[in-house]
Amino acid sequence: MIADSFVVIRDFIRTHLDEDPLALLGGETYSTLTEVAEVYEKEKAECEKRLVTINWRNEWVEEAIKEFHCPECGSGLIDVESTDEPDEKIELFCRDCEKHWSSCEILPVVINDLFASDNIESIHDGGNPVTTTCPICSNDTYHLEDDECLFCGGSVERVCRWCATEIPESELNEDGICAHCQHMLEKDD
Ligand SMILES: [Zn+2]
Ligand SMILES: [Zn+2]
Ligand SMILES: [Zn+2]
Repeated sequence: MIADSFVVIRDFIRTHLDEDPLALLGGETYSTLTEVAEVYEKEKAECEKRLVTINWRNEWVEEAIKEFHCPECGSGLIDVESTDEPDEKIELFCRDCEKHWSSCEILPVVINDLFASDNIESIHDGGNPVTTTCPICSNDTYHLEDDECLFCGGSVERVCRWCATEIPESELNEDGICAHCQHMLEKDD
C-alpha cells in the first residue's frame, strides 16, 4: 500500500536520516505521494473515530485494531461495519480490498499481532512472553501480566493448587494444576 508506506518512509527520512523528504525524493514525487498520503491519513482518522466509539471488551483490543494491517492487502484502513453493536457482533473490514471479517474470526489475529514483536523480543532477552496460548479458547491471546485472555476474557490459576508452585506459562491449564502434579495424578489412577 503506497500511502501507508509513504508515511513510514517520510517519517523515517525525517527522524532517522535527518534529511528533508522533499529534497531527497524530488518535488514531483513528493507532492504526488503527499496527496495520496493525505487521503490515506484522512481515511485512517475516520476509521479511528468509528473504532473508539465501540465499547471493546478491553483497551488492548482497540489499540490492536488501530495498529492492525489487512492480511490480504497490507492496508491500515481497518473499519467497522456498524458502531452500535456489541463488540462480539461487530464485523470489521478493510477499506482498500473490502475483505470482511467477523470479530470472532479476526480479533485473535489482531490481538496476537499487537504483541508478536514484544513476545519475540522478550523471549530473545530470556524473559517471558507478554501473551501466550489461552488454555480456554486456544488463541494466542492470554495476557500474562493482566492474567486474563484478551479475547475470551477467561483467567486461569497461575499457582498450582496442589504443590503451590508457579505454573510455567507454557503449562497453563483450566485445572490449575502444574504438569508435574498432573503427571503424579495420572500415575495414581
Ligand atoms: Zn485489505
Ligand atoms: Zn481465551
Ligand atoms: Zn503442582
